[in-house]
Amino acid sequence: MPEIYQPTAEDKQRLKMREGMFKVSGDQIFATLQGEGVTAGEPAVFLRLHFCNLACGKNGGWQCDTGYTWDTRREDFWKEPIDWSIAQTAENIRAEWEKTPWEEKFQKDGKASKKRVVVTGGEPTLQQAKIIEITKLLPDWAFEIETNGTIAPRPELINCQINCSPKLSNSGNAKERRYKPDVLKAINAMPNSWFKFVALDPKDFEEIDQMVQECGLDPKKILIMPEGYTKDNVDEHRTLVEEEVKKRGWNFTMRNQLIWFGPKRRT
Ligand code: SF4
Repeated sequence: MPEIYQPTAEDKQRLKMREGMFKVSGDQIFATLQGEGVTAGEPAVFLRLHFCNLACGKNGGWQCDTGYTWDTRREDFWKEPIDWSIAQTAENIRAEWEKTPWEEKFQKDGKASKKRVVVTGGEPTLQQAKIIEITKLLPDWAFEIETNGTIAPRPELINCQINCSPKLSNSGNAKERRYKPDVLKAINAMPNSWFKFVALDPKDFEEIDQMVQECGLDPKKILIMPEGYTKDNVDEHRTLVEEEVKKRGWNFTMRNQLIWFGPKRRT
């Protein structure tokens, strides 16, 4: 068991939510390629928000790779977050994009693609009132919101792409915390929503099938992502679950960021 960090009074103050301010995690924003899901390969600026209402891996199961956004036992959870106003966050997103070669390329190619921002975490819907405000400040951007499917996105987010990753028992979270059928049904009804299930072995498909059936999830929206933190263990899990995915006519999504950049933060 790693040593548990004892937060100072200053640390506790840093974690307090402030009116109209995003609580942004230590990764802040970074420009990269979307590595997962239906827009894999698209250039995007990622905004990583602090806090999560689940705790994947804390009580067994596979380990969340962004524990610094929620795990109160870790020093970086207490030390890294910062507050950005909504206007400042929008400005930082624009500035990050402008540092990349994409803006010029998009203009030269006359590409229909929009500039893209992926709001990730942690669990971004914990701060969704501010996400709604930032979509108004960046009306010409495509927004993706990553979520664990436990909090319903508000109707104002209807034009965003919702990348929902409902958690299974293999995440180590208690069922009553991680599984919210009404939320999954609401997300399924949104026009640009997707469900990404993390699978390790064929046994996981009993649970996925049950969730899909109970919530009436559209099979065209389902993606299976083999679990892993290295290219080799993602490949190993992909091989184990391949037949189950094919049988159901679903799709895979890989964690391309691992292949492209390795297991690093801010990729
Ligand atoms: S829901 Fe996502 S961010 Fe939260 S603990 Fe699980 S993997 Fe990590």
